[in-house]
Amino acid sequence: MATETPTYLQKLKGIPKANFLFGPSPIQFLPRLSKELSPNGDVKVYAKRDDCNSGLAYGGNKVRKLEFLVADALAQGCDTLVSVGGVQSNHTRAVTAVATASGLKAVTVQEKWVPIDPPLYDKVGNILLSRLMGGDVRLNQEGFHIGHKEATKQAVEDVKARGGKPYYVPAGASDHVLGGLGFTNFVVELAEQEKLLGVYFDTLVVCSVTGSSHAGLITGAAAEGKGRKVIGIDASGKPEATKAQVARIARNTAKLLDPKLEIPDEAIVLDERFHEGIYGIPGPSTIEAMKTAARTDALITDPVYEGKSMAGMMQLIKEGSIKPGSNVLYVHLGGQPALNAYSSYFEEDTK
Ligand SMILES: *Cc1c(COP(=O)(O)O)cnc(C)c1O
Repeated sequence: MATETPTYLQKLKGIPKANFLFGPSPIQFLPRLSKELSPNGDVKVYAKRDDCNSGLAYGGNKVRKLEFLVADALAQGCDTLVSVGGVQSNHTRAVTAVATASGLKAVTVQEKWVPIDPPLYDKVGNILLSRLMGGDVRLNQEGFHIGHKEATKQAVEDVKARGGKPYYVPAGASDHVLGGLGFTNFVVELAEQEKLLGVYFDTLVVCSVTGSSHAGLITGAAAEGKGRKVIGIDASGKPEATKAQVARIARNTAKLLDPKLEIPDEAIVLDERFHEGIYGIPGPSTIEAMKTAARTDALITDPVYEGKSMAGMMQLIKEGSIKPGSNVLYVHLGGQPALNAYSSYFEEDTK
């Protein structure tokens, strides 16, 4: 008997999308990390490697989201993507990458969102990649609150003044009507991979800051209706604001795909224990988790995002919040290019 394609899937497949990914991002079993966290073999840990999802400047979660936004920008006849982020933003590097690969220009405003200035912070890693790709990179030295909106507005005006047509991409490509679609689609992709692998992941663990990766997973899981748990790990240091944004994006995305699709409050889970008090700066649990992942399965994470969600997943397994018998999927969102700007946090390991 032919089963009918659900409403949300029909809608999702009908929304224009650029093609920036290699295909489905790989799913990898992590045998040594599993053993470390669950010595009896009760919990199996896998990673879906969205850090390896694309050939465009190292890829990552923003590239997946931007497939939908760039299709929209092209449909509107825009010629320049304008966006904003911190000095070591993965997002602005991804915006520059997808713009370049689509024949568009990119202007990115890079702000002091993180109150540190380690050696080469504004020279290596993500910002180096954006410069290498020929992006118009604008370091904004002003303080976070004053400079923020002004410099971005100015960037949009500058594009218009030279006769261009700007397309504004909000921070993290999140607070945008299409922002949640990339990771709703991720769940569809995952379900197809699960069929081939013969595994079902009952629990997904994901880092959450601007919220649309987490929100898209929640919408995708709600739409498929299998009862899959999605646990967000806050790395924003402002979990209340992040949680509100996740809820809003998840519900707006659901509404866009199927007016009947409800996202209950219980589906929005954000663990606040691992952000170490502030966005962009690792704490002891972050560094410890990064070392554990690197020294078991050579899984490399960054100190801003993935090290924090790794610390979260490790603790959830150790404390038994993730139950024996579980197959856990660590959703690896990328971010490794920033690591070189944080070498000073690993100096003791050079001795
Ligand atoms: C942006 C980013 C996140 C956070 O994703 P959001 O969708 O902004 O919540 C996590 N990890 C990496 C590597 C990122 O670049």
